[in-house]
Amino acid sequence: MSKIVLASGNKGKLAEFSQLFSEFGIEVLPQSEFNVPDVPETGTTFVENAIIKARHAAEITGHPTISDDSGIEVDFLDGQPGIYSARYSGEGATAESNNKKLIEALANTVNRTARFQCVLVYMRHAKDPTPIIAQASWEGEIATQKQGEHGHGYDPLFIPLGMNDTAAEMTADEKNAVSHRGKALVKLVSSLKEQRIIK
Ligand code: IMP
Repeated sequence: MSKIVLASGNKGKLAEFSQLFSEFGIEVLPQSEFNVPDVPETGTTFVENAIIKARHAAEITGHPTISDDSGIEVDFLDGQPGIYSARYSGEGATAESNNKKLIEALANTVNRTARFQCVLVYMRHAKDPTPIIAQASWEGEIATQKQGEHGHGYDPLFIPLGMNDTAAEMTADEKNAVSHRGKALVKLVSSLKEQRIIK
């Protein structure tokens, strides 16, 4: 069985990628299995940060890698927190403190449109000159208060376009069918098939 290393420590992402790639006879391993330390995300775009993470894991493990870089863009905040979504509320940021800061930042506006962005990168090896890149977004708006218990991150504040409930009120399967990450994954698989990396 061939192996791909996931350049992430997120257990939810590992489960999602493992399930999908097992269909193609590919085993997805977490980078922690190879003691890959976190790498500073010094890029200014999701694409750059995803490539930095995938390249770093490929360098250390010697295996092909997949990375995911994602975040939320809020129009009233000129696209922030964007690539800084995980660190929005500063050092030691948690989903709780990030959501609190976002509620406060939008306290005096009705302009609440936003979107999740996801970039997935596949690198055949650390010097791969043509990483395969898949990108997708999920439109919605920011609620005035948190609702729902599922999901993670900004899900309790994100009301997808055309819905009344937040992403944290959807089941994992409902969310994966329409989310930024779910859609990017479909595109990535399609490109990997086109280039005969998976069959
Ligand atoms: P990354 O893991 O470095 O890409 O950081 C992603 C950041 O964006 C984290 O703060 C996540 O909480 C947030 N984020 C990305 N995708 C989602 C999602 O599907 N739901 C909620 N928050 C998300």
